Amino acid sequence: MRDRRYRPHKRPRSGKTASNESFEDLLRETRKGKSGDTDYRERSLKIHGLICAKCGREFTHKNRHLLTVHHKDGNHRNNPPDGSNWENLCAYCHEDEHSRELLADYFKDDE
Ligand SMILES: [Zn+2]
Ligand SMILES: [Zn+2]
Repeated sequence: MRDRRYRPHKRPRSGKTASNESFEDLLRETRKGKSGDTDYRERSLKIHGLICAKCGREFTHKNRHLLTVHHKDGNHRNNPPDGSNWENLCAYCHEDEHSRELLADYFKDDE
């Protein structure tokens, strides 16, 4: 018996996350024409969620500024829209990840 006609909606290619609507949101936001590559943070938070990829700490809209975006390849200019180069890390884990770099540099870049 295979009379099931269920067809899955097409999914964003981001892989494991099931954030369909936020993906739409970010597309819309991208079209708004926010300048430059400084809004990758918002996009990453939307794609990967308000959670630290390392320690699993969850964040809310109130303390989300504590969640930072890590570039897996270390290149701030490499911001693929599917978020494959981003990882959301809380300030502590991010500092751990870059124990030799200045986190201030990241915050500056976000502004
Ligand atoms: Zn963490
Ligand atoms: Zn980083």
